[in-house]
Amino acid sequence: MSAASYVQSVLATLKQRDPNQPEFFEAASTLLNTITPVFEKHPEYVKANVLGRLVEPERAIQFAVPWQDDQGSIQVNRGFRVQFNSAIGPYKGGLRLHPSVNLSIVKFLGFEQIFKNSLTTLPIGGAKGGSDFDPKGKSDAEVMRFCQSFMTELSKYIGPDLDVPAGDIGVGAREIGYLYGQYKRLKGAQRGVLTGKGLSYGGSLARTEATGYGLIYYTDELLKANGETLADKRAVISGAGNVAIHAAEKAEALGVKVLTVSDSSGYVVDENGIDVAVVKQIKEVERGRIKAYADRVAGAEYHEGSVWDATDLKFDLALPCATQNEIDGQQAARFKAAGVIAVAEGANMPSNPDAIAANAGGVAVSALEMGQNSRRESDSFEKVDSQLHEIMQHIFKASDDAADEYGVPGNYEAGANIAGFLKVADAMYAQGM
Ligand code: NDP
Repeated sequence: MSAASYVQSVLATLKQRDPNQPEFFEAASTLLNTITPVFEKHPEYVKANVLGRLVEPERAIQFAVPWQDDQGSIQVNRGFRVQFNSAIGPYKGGLRLHPSVNLSIVKFLGFEQIFKNSLTTLPIGGAKGGSDFDPKGKSDAEVMRFCQSFMTELSKYIGPDLDVPAGDIGVGAREIGYLYGQYKRLKGAQRGVLTGKGLSYGGSLARTEATGYGLIYYTDELLKANGETLADKRAVISGAGNVAIHAAEKAEALGVKVLTVSDSSGYVVDENGIDVAVVKQIKEVERGRIKAYADRVAGAEYHEGSVWDATDLKFDLALPCATQNEIDGQQAARFKAAGVIAVAEGANMPSNPDAIAANAGGVAVSALEMGQNSRRESDSFEKVDSQLHEIMQHIFKASDDAADEYGVPGNYEAGANIAGFLKVADAMYAQGM
């Protein structure tokens, strides 16, 4: 069987088995199509049906999460943990709390996590989880009761050497604290069981910043390889959460003018460069809407809708840091025509085709946090940040080299997918069935 027909047959089976999982199918088909050249060089992977095994999660858990709201009513949400692949290490991947969460979304995120984790060079497998619970508008007590119920079930399936969840959309320091507190109550203190923890109970310095900073380190490498630099570029950033805030912070430190941040209601434009301290105050302290930025910063404007529809903005770098499928084909074509030189993805699958490499910094520092927890040590911010920087440089180089080796030079997306896949495939092949 040719490499292309092997890949297509795996995709056909997938579609037939799970016709109602569009996000997962989109992620799998994008990724599989870019790694087809690997099977021409490695017929042994076809014979061992590595792909057929890789697209099926090793384990997918769905559970009920009952919790009591402040009015005394009983609410029920759905919880998920998809443990996708453990060929190179314990399952690792975030938890997402958002009303859109379903099995298809968790599978797409878990599947991409396998390759992203492999690229970091650290020994971590791929997983993802979450719930359709919406933390927005809930009191701290409601969020705590939800997290405790969620962890009461999840705790049966995770552990420091088995599966180590972290944050994602809707899961920040507050939620990780409540989740960890409940795990500890049930099982005793095992620091390595969650990453993104607070600094006072086993968290790593630079973990909060890691995904956003890592995105900018990656973008820096990408520009350098193409004879450009970050200095004096104009960037549009979407989102105003953990990834967007820290991407903006690092970009500005390296001389970029960040023009925008956004949330699901609208976006602000600040021609003087976004004041990250104001965004942190609104989103992290007040848990408010980004609209408030325009009320506080002279000259800034607020607009409803998607920042990617703002046709009057002139920029060089598009850095989507909010959610999946935020950039469609038409918008991407318009960027190209308007002279945008790079789209680097902080979010997972914000556009199609998708790239998995640029946002790997978060999970990389999560793995460093696991290492610090098992050593019972805390590394300095500078040490972790410089490890992160090196990992992002490595990821770019590995992607660039793999693209050259497999006949698609300059295609960093394909290169990243191939480099991530090869390590996992090699481990799966070596370990037998
Ligand atoms: P946060 O919850 O901190 O922030 C998410 C931001 O995106 C908020 O501003 C939110 O606005 C906005 N947003 C969410 N959904 C939508 C939507 N449907 N339309 C428009 N805006 C939306 O999440 P993170 O910053 O942690 O995550 C952002 C992205 O980065 C996700 O794709 C995540 O998977 C990815 N990522 C995160 C990592 C991490 O370490 N945190 C690691 C790797 C990837 P609003 O408040 O209105 O919902």
